[in-house]
Formats: sequence, structure tokens, C-alpha cells
Amino acid sequence: MKTAAIILAAGRGTRAGGELPKQWQDLCGQPVIAHSLAAFARFHRVLVVHPDDSDQLSRLDLSGIHVVTGADSRDGSVRAGLAALDPSQIDHVLIHDGARPLVTARVIDGVLSALKHGPAAAPGLAVSDALWTGVQDQVTGLQNRDGLYRAQTPQGFHLQAILAAHHAHKGAATDDVEVARAAGLAVQITPGDEENIKITWPGDLTRAARIMGKNMDIRTGNGFDVHAFTAGDGCWLCGVKVPHDGALLGHSDADVGMHALTDAIYGALAEGDIGRHFPPSDPQWKGAESHVFLAHAASRATARGFAITHCDVTLICERPKIGPHAGAMQARLAQILGIELDRISVKATTSERLGFTGREEGIAAIATATLVKS
Ligand code: MG
Repeated sequence: MKTAAIILAAGRGTRAGGELPKQWQDLCGQPVIAHSLAAFARFHRVLVVHPDDSDQLSRLDLSGIHVVTGADSRDGSVRAGLAALDPSQIDHVLIHDGARPLVTARVIDGVLSALKHGPAAAPGLAVSDALWTGVQDQVTGLQNRDGLYRAQTPQGFHLQAILAAHHAHKGAATDDVEVARAAGLAVQITPGDEENIKITWPGDLTRAARIMGKNMDIRTGNGFDVHAFTAGDGCWLCGVKVPHDGALLGHSDADVGMHALTDAIYGALAEGDIGRHFPPSDPQWKGAESHVFLAHAASRATARGFAITHCDVTLICERPKIGPHAGAMQARLAQILGIELDRISVKATTSERLGFTGREEGIAAIATATLVKS
């Protein structure tokens, strides 16, 4: 039995504020939709997006994810997602609002477990507040709340049953439970979660960030590196060749700044250092360009579910002067790491002519990296 998850991200909702639809807005360093996708990583995933958002896709790790283009309506987008599934391979499907990034394994497992006994199941929460009717902020009556539930997602179905239900359904639908019920399917209500909120209104992103913060894994790593000067016409520093009357000596391109930053990321992951991943004894890394190391560290962070939210590199030398090149270094590091420019800092200091850097025997670098998993 194999389960697929369809994550809906084609909506144009901007009621939450901001210029981007809510599912593409930033939540704890990643787009909202990235959190929703991560919650379903154990399933075959189909992501339904709007064609206008194709330029946003580069912000996601899409490995193993089938991306399809949605429609103007929710039910049209669901049908596009369903059409991407092979019924000979998939038995059950979970259909989830991409704007619910806080869904937990407990909520998902509740739906899956109910699908063992029936064709359809979805999480809901019994209404506990009193309900009023009102007109122009005046209470006009009391609504009986008995038997009322707030609907959440993922809504889960036997694939063949929901395919047939969507095929038969005419007109729009609020959600897939409505489509399923119209086809006569029994829908089991499973436990919802107060924190499984749908990002809709201004303030929801802040609330979601606060909920995430309770379980957030925030790590900092540090890195330190030194390379000595040798004869040459320039130094590679943070991915930029800086003209100089010397070069840095090393097994690779001796980019001391990038090495320190790479070690900071490995350090935050508690995965050793460059030497462990790229042994100097291995001739294939001789003369290697250091972006290979940095990109590897970044890919380890991604694979472990961490976003790199900030990097700070300090180069320690009397010469060459770093200031004129700091912007280019910042841009190069941001490009390699695939993160925004304002999350990277490159700065420099001298050691007041003291010590080996003061005597211009070499360059030292320290770096700090902050990684967040939410
Ligand atoms: Mg080094």
C-alpha cells in the first residue's frame, strides 16, 4: 500500500499581507510551502503550483517532488494533482493545504489510520467557543455549536474513490470532503490540532513562527583557518581572486575565508570539518576550488532539514585590503549557499601588526554560521 500527498500551493491568497501569495512568504527562513512539503517527506509528493509562481520554485528543494501546474479553482488544482498519480502504484492520497505548514505527524497518522477502515477521513476540531450570529457588530442570536467541527487538512482518501468523486462532481467545492460526500462517501473525522493553522490573515505568519519557535532547533557553528603566503599574484578569498603581491599556500585553492565558513557549517551540524569530508591525503582534492566544499556543507544542512539563516566571516590580515572586495565576496558566498545576500556578512580586521598576520606571513579567518530547523 503506497500513499501519495498532494500539496496545494496554486492559490493567489494575499489576505495575509505582503506581495507574494501566503504560501511563498517567509516563515522561519524558508517559504511557508517548504515546511508543508517537509511534513509529508515520507510520501510520494505532488506539488501543485500556479504558473505565475514558477520563479519561486528555485527556493525549494524539489528532489523527489513531482511539480504540476494548478488551475484557478481549488478543485481544479486538486484534479491536476490527482491526474499526476498512477493508480496502479498509489492506493491512498492525502490532500493538504500548502498554507498549513504546522501539520504534525500525529494529525497525518490519524488520517492514515482511519483510511484502514473507510474510504475517506479528515482532521477536525469540535467547536468549543459559543457561536453568535450578528449583523453590523450587533449580536442577533446564538448558534447551537453541538455537532459543529472546524475542518482541517490533510484530507485523506482511497485514491480510486476520490478520483471517481471528482470525476462526477459538478461545480466548485470548498474542499475534498465536500466532493467525497457528494459522491456518497462516508468521511471519518480524525483528531485535528489547534496549531495546524492555515496562514490566512495578517498576524498568522507571526503566530506560526511563534508556534514553530517552541520546537525550533537553532544551532551556531564556528570555523577557524589559516593559510601562509607564498609567491603569486593574488589570493582567493571568499570565492573572489584578490590581486596581491603574494598568494596563499594550500592543498586546494587555499581560500581561507571559505574554509572557515565551511567548517562553521559542518560545526553547526556536528559533522566534523573539511578534512573529514575531503581528506587532504586524497589526490582528487588537490587544487580543488573551495566552492565544492562549501556547497557540500550546504547540501548536508539541507539534507538534515536545516536552513542556513546567517553567516559571518572575518578575514584577519594587514594586506590585501578586503573592503573594496567585500561586496563581491558576499555575493559569491550567497550564490554558492543559495541564500539571500542580507544573510551573509564579510568583514576584515588587521591584528595591529602583531603576530603572524601582523608580520604578513599569512591570513587567518574566523566564521560563524547559524542554522535553523523548524
Ligand atoms: Mg584551509
